[in-house]
Amino acid sequence: MPENVISSSRPRVLSGMRPTGKLHLGNYMGALANWVKLQDPYECYFFIADLHALTTDYADTSNILPNTMEVALDFLAGGLDPERCTIFVQSHVKPHFELPLFLGMITPLSWLERTPSYKEMQENVSNKDLTNFGFLGYPVLMASDILLYQADFVPVGQDQQAHVELTREIARRFNQFYKVDGQEVLPEPKVLLTPSPKLPGTDGRKMSKSYGNTILMTDPEPVVRQKLKTMVTDPARIRRTDPGDPDKCPVGDLHKVFSTPETLANVYEGCRSAGIGCIQCKGWAADALVQVLAPIQERRASFSESQIEEILKDGSNRAGVRAEQTMREVRAAMQLTSSAGGNR
Ligand code: SF4
Repeated sequence: MPENVISSSRPRVLSGMRPTGKLHLGNYMGALANWVKLQDPYECYFFIADLHALTTDYADTSNILPNTMEVALDFLAGGLDPERCTIFVQSHVKPHFELPLFLGMITPLSWLERTPSYKEMQENVSNKDLTNFGFLGYPVLMASDILLYQADFVPVGQDQQAHVELTREIARRFNQFYKVDGQEVLPEPKVLLTPSPKLPGTDGRKMSKSYGNTILMTDPEPVVRQKLKTMVTDPARIRRTDPGDPDKCPVGDLHKVFSTPETLANVYEGCRSAGIGCIQCKGWAADALVQVLAPIQERRASFSESQIEEILKDGSNRAGVRAEQTMREVRAAMQLTSSAGGNR
């Protein structure tokens, strides 16, 4: 394994995903495809956030482990390379249990209660009881994930910037209380804004597992074509002879992300002049998707379960070394040990 994964002088980046099962194209375009590009310019840590899954799915944990394996497989299929980045499972790295406890001590309740996604989920999720301590505290868990690696940047889309801001506030508060030899221990991470193109699901809403409108990275060609067939289109195009507008059509949005400029030009021309039908247009979109998915699915098929386990074990070891380095400084700063050298 390359030494530079731990001793790199490149800026450090950390990001994770919950183990929600097989990833869909929204996950891929919104996060994973960007992560793949970060692997060389940054020292990257990418993890599967199984502890986060527990904050909401504590009553039935049976899917967490199988989903963790699926996500790991999709990470690799999507192009993450364990030789160029560190891929690990959150619960396999024990400092992920320790730092949240320390940060939980200094985080005011009011900061957690005002988290936008906390209120939103409390109001919208009716099939789970989210009045638990763990769910309220998940931003502390998230802050710990980032701060454990003393990450310089966190790649996020526009809508997740608030989480990084809260992490910065928690780091500031920690640094106000505790220092090692007058030095701050937890650097404030910055947001690395990553492009996340608008990716509609088959019903036109944002692609999301909870809407049941996804196209999975693992969907075989016939399934992709079938899903595209049922996809909603510009509502103004009722008859074949009605002109439409790709800017008002979810299929048009898919073309903008996945099709070549030539195909996109044909879509605009053919749709606006009613020269093409929606079935033909959807066929072109399916062609483009299949082309993107084919190499991903080929890579996915090349990994055995034991290889995945080995990659995750190795990644967790490497992440553990980095995280433990931070914990030694944290314990020393909090005067729980005599020095940052690790005497407990
Ligand atoms: S032709 Fe294509 S872009 Fe136009 S409405 Fe039909 S599916 Fe949408």
